[in-house]
Amino acid sequence: MALFGVPFFIIRIMFKHKKNLGQHFLKDKNIVAKIVKSAEIKEGDHIWEIGPGKGILTREILKYTKNLTCFEIDKDLYDYLETKFDIRLVKSDILKVDWNKYLTKNTKIVSNLPYQITSPFLFKLVNYKANFDKIVIMIQKDVAERLKAKPNTKKYGLLSIKIGYYFDIKYEFTVKPHLFYPPPKVDSAVISLIPKKEKFPTEDYKTFWNIVDLLFRNRRKMIRNNLKALFDEEKLSFLEQTTEIKLTQRAENLTIDDFYKIYRFKKDNL
Ligand code: SAM
Repeated sequence: MALFGVPFFIIRIMFKHKKNLGQHFLKDKNIVAKIVKSAEIKEGDHIWEIGPGKGILTREILKYTKNLTCFEIDKDLYDYLETKFDIRLVKSDILKVDWNKYLTKNTKIVSNLPYQITSPFLFKLVNYKANFDKIVIMIQKDVAERLKAKPNTKKYGLLSIKIGYYFDIKYEFTVKPHLFYPPPKVDSAVISLIPKKEKFPTEDYKTFWNIVDLLFRNRRKMIRNNLKALFDEEKLSFLEQTTEIKLTQRAENLTIDDFYKIYRFKKDNL
């Protein structure tokens, strides 16, 4: 097939990768097949692909479902994608679109995410509290390790807590740089996020996350100092006694249960 008389293989050669859009295209069909398998696509599933690029994952997803919505920011790819694939193409920045417009029942995400949007994408994911069935994404290996990190380790942080609160995280496999064109500088990893069935019974998310954010804002400080913004000295001692959380610790030492206990204490001691 051709576009305005130009054969596609010429378009491929002519296409200039845009570094600022994180364009590292996958070359390896085995990896592509493995990513799509991890999504366990069933009949009736609606798939969102973020950043179809030149469509190597798109083609594989279409083998399993025709219900595919792709979000792509790069205008230079639109004609190519629309001519080549039967997809719903949303010509927008995934960080700026209103996700509710495109969410349906049984929506899953499958994406080789552009690296520069990984953190804002994950924060948008938790802030939207959207009901996805499963999310399979390729991200930097280092970020994948941070998401899975446990308290008392260097990599543990706000993102580990936020994602860990809503999702079970499965590390699927590592992908080496030579399997992309152009190759990125670091290893990548494919992870699955599966929404947790049992969540903390947090009726007031805003207060809960305000406490977590407050404690992580100065993560090197003892939590006692950060908590002074919420409690007087008497309440702080009471908090330490009732929750048995040592206030000389730092945010990076606390488990999600600890954050929850502090939140409960705040709600019960208004
Ligand atoms: N899926 C293709 C593959 O695996 O070869 C391309 C993946 S490439 C890492 C990332 C893709 O996301 C590029 O096509 C890029 O143009 C697109 N992209 C970058 N930022 C985006 C954004 N904010 N919203 C939607 N797409 C974006």
